[in-house]
Amino acid sequence: MVNAAKYREIQSNFVLNVPGENLNHNNPVFLVDRIIHGFLSENSFLLPNKETNRGRRKTYQTGELLGFIVWGVLNGITSCRGLENWLNNNDETCNYILNNKKPSKSTIARFFNSNMFLIEELFRYTVNLGIKYDLIGFEHVAIDGTILKANVNKFRVIKMCEREYLENLITEMEKDDDLLFKLEKYFLDDVLDENNHIIIQEIKNESKKEVLNLLTKSLMSDEEKREVLDFIVYLKANYNGKNTISLTDPESRWMKDKKGNTGLNYNYQVATDDKYDFIVAQKLVNDPTDHHQFIPMSDEVKMNLNRHPTLYTADNGYLTDKTAEYCYQNNITTIMPDRTESIKIKHQKPENRFKKHNFQYNWEEDVYICPQNQILKYTNNRRINSKLYRVYSTKQCKNCIHSQECYKGIKREIFHTANPLKIKMSENYNSDLGRKTYRKRFHTGETYFAILKNSRKFPGIQRKTIKKAQTELTLQTIAHNIKIIHKHLKPH
Ligand code: SF4
Repeated sequence: MVNAAKYREIQSNFVLNVPGENLNHNNPVFLVDRIIHGFLSENSFLLPNKETNRGRRKTYQTGELLGFIVWGVLNGITSCRGLENWLNNNDETCNYILNNKKPSKSTIARFFNSNMFLIEELFRYTVNLGIKYDLIGFEHVAIDGTILKANVNKFRVIKMCEREYLENLITEMEKDDDLLFKLEKYFLDDVLDENNHIIIQEIKNESKKEVLNLLTKSLMSDEEKREVLDFIVYLKANYNGKNTISLTDPESRWMKDKKGNTGLNYNYQVATDDKYDFIVAQKLVNDPTDHHQFIPMSDEVKMNLNRHPTLYTADNGYLTDKTAEYCYQNNITTIMPDRTESIKIKHQKPENRFKKHNFQYNWEEDVYICPQNQILKYTNNRRINSKLYRVYSTKQCKNCIHSQECYKGIKREIFHTANPLKIKMSENYNSDLGRKTYRKRFHTGETYFAILKNSRKFPGIQRKTIKKAQTELTLQTIAHNIKIIHKHLKPH
C-alpha cells in the first residue's frame, strides 16, 4: 500500500499563478486593459442596468470580452474562431485580459453582435485619448478612401427582373391553390407529371438556381414564406437600379477597386491626423465613388475632435460644387487638386502631349501656356451641362504645325471652372503651403491603408452587412490608435 503521507512531504510547493505576473511591464496588453476599463468607467451609462438585469449572473464581464476582442485584433486575430483557438494555446496575455476565463467562439460572436455601438464609442474614446495626450496635431487631416472586398459569393446574385418574377409567383400561389399544389408536388415531393410539367418548365426557363432555392424555401411553411418575402423587401430596399444584387450581402455594391477590377465591394473612408497618423474619423459606405463623402467625413471629424483642423487634404475625387460650397460656408481650408492637377500627379502612361493637363496655367496673368509656348488668353464664359466655365484660346492655332494633333474643329479652347469657390481651392492647392501639405498627404492619407493591407495582413471584410463590416473595421482603427498611444507614451 502506498503511503500518501510520505509522498506529500516530497511534493513541491505550488504557488497559484496570478495572470500577467510573468509579462514584461511594457507589454501593450496592460495598456489595452487600462484603456478598456477607463472607457467603461467613464461610459457606464452605455452598459445595461445591473439592477434591472434578471436571470443568471453573467459569467463574462463586458471589459473582459471587449478587451479580449481588441487585444485579438492588435495581434492580427479577427475571427471568433481564431480567438477561440488562440485561447487553447494558454497565452499569458489572454489569461490576463480574460481573468483566466475561456469564452467559446459563440460567446464572443454574441458579444460582438450585441455590442457594436460600444465598439464605435470605444473608437471615439481612443480619439479623446489622442487629444488628451497631445498625439493629435489639429494641423492637417487627410481624408482618403479605399475599396475593400465584401465577404460575398459573387456568383450568388439575382437580377431585379428575377426578384420580381419570384415575388409575383409567390403572390399568385397565395391566391391559386391549384398552382400551389402543382409547385409543392415538384419542389417538395420531387414529382413531375403531366399536370405540373408545363408550369415547372416555364418557371425553370425564367429562373436560375438561386430563385428556385428561394421558391422551394417559401413552399416549406408559412413562416419560411414570410422570411422569403421579407428578404425580397430587403433586396428591393438595397437595389441601386443598375446591376444585379448580391444574395449573400445585399448591402454590398458592384464597384471598381484601385486595380480596376469590378466586384462586390464597400468603400472605406478614413480621416488621418498627420502628427502621428492617428485616425480621427472613419466610415464604411456602399457608395462606389468618393464624390459625396467629403461633407459627412469632415462632419465626423468635427464631432470627434470638437473642431475642424486648420487644413484638410483630399484628392480630386472629393471635389464637387457642393464640397466647395460646404468648405466656404464652414470656413474650412481644403487642399484639393483639380482634375488637371490630379492627372499630372498620377503620372499616367505616355499619351498625347496636347491634353489639357500639359497646358501650364499662370495664376498671376490668368493665361494658359500651351506645349508650343503660345499664350491662350481668357475670351469668354460658356455654360456646359449647367456648369459655367471660363474659356481660353489663341489665334496662333491656325499656323501651328501640331494643330491636327491638338484639336478638332476651329481652334483649341481650354475650359477652366468659373466657380469662384473652386478657383479659390485651386489657388490654395497651387500655393507653396498647399503643395507642401499635399505632398505630405501621400504619407499621411495612405499609410493606414498600407499598414492595414500589408503589415497587419487584413484578410478583407469577414462579416456581412454594412453595420457588422463597419464594426470590424472600427476594431482595426482602435488597434491602430492604441499602437500609436503605446509607442508615444511611457508605460505608466
Ligand atoms: S494648336 Fe494652338 S494650342 Fe495647340 S499647340 Fe498649337 S498653338 Fe498651341
